Amino acid sequence: MKIRDILGQGRPTLSFEVFPPKTEDKYETVEAAAREIAMLSPSFMSVTYGAGGGTSRYTVDIAAALNNEYHVPTLAHVTCVSSTREKVRGVLRELRERGIENVLALRGDIPKEGRLAHDYLYASELIREIKQSGDFCIGAACYPEGHVESANKTEDITYLKEKVEAGCDFVTTQMFFDNNILYNYLYRIRERGITVPVVAGIMPVTNVSQIRRICQMSGTYLPSRFKAIVDRFGDRPAAMKQAGIAYATEQIIDLIANGVNGIHVYSMNKPDVAARIQASLSEILECGE
Ligand code: FAD
Repeated sequence: MKIRDILGQGRPTLSFEVFPPKTEDKYETVEAAAREIAMLSPSFMSVTYGAGGGTSRYTVDIAAALNNEYHVPTLAHVTCVSSTREKVRGVLRELRERGIENVLALRGDIPKEGRLAHDYLYASELIREIKQSGDFCIGAACYPEGHVESANKTEDITYLKEKVEAGCDFVTTQMFFDNNILYNYLYRIRERGITVPVVAGIMPVTNVSQIRRICQMSGTYLPSRFKAIVDRFGDRPAAMKQAGIAYATEQIIDLIANGVNGIHVYSMNKPDVAARIQASLSEILECGE
């Protein structure tokens, strides 16, 4: 099923993300976690793509298992910055052959050692190419706090518009911990004529090293309410996990209450986290418009 049709149903959606392993020996563990999450019957699931594309086989295999064995609509991520056109086309062909109908089209981070290929500069080029083939529902990434390489948020929104005009059907946000940042962003992008559905990406922070890594990489704003949780519970893993899940759940309830229906949880291959969030939202997810 195409994700644009799921998002168009006028009711809250809850989806989960998994990431493939970096090495073969971890494949079974990751696939088992993905299957456990699929058994929760989320609205859809996404499978990320290893930077550089070297593990694209795992992305395709996990996405196909979720889609074809569990009948959970699946969104396969594909990045282009480190790949040749031939490689990207090969991955898309395989996704199509294995029944995947949805692709999140990304540029990917530029490797420290420089680009490994020069066929694509930006995600918009990949989106245009996928759109021409005509058969995928296409998603793209967006950044309520601005992408790290962008000079400012206005410029970032200009390039988001280019992606939408290139043919993307919906966008998913980078994580954020203050909903007001998203509300402000939605106002700004709607004002610029971007009308596609925006799926809010929510990260339940369940351990301290995770949040340190996130802040180093993306400069995501942490509200003082969130910092207090980390200060108080950061060195008590079970308490931190409970508080992190509760914080994410509260964020989601506020988003849905304010009309943001698409919720995508960065569940980090943790079925128990996904299950706890879903259980806390069981009635809320039934509320149509
Ligand atoms: P783009 O949209 O191409 O933007 C990249 C930068 O270039 C931005 O600063 C933008 O403003 C600027 N720009 C865009 N077009 C132009 C133009 N025409 N001229 C000048 N500047 C321009 N990474 C992975 O490796 N694997 C994943 O599976 C993955 N999944 C993700 C899922 C989500 C929801 C998000 C938010 C991010 C994900 N990422 C993933 C990270 C992503 O690859 C990086 O953030 C990457 O640096 C940017 O990718 P993009 O598709 O947003 O790039």
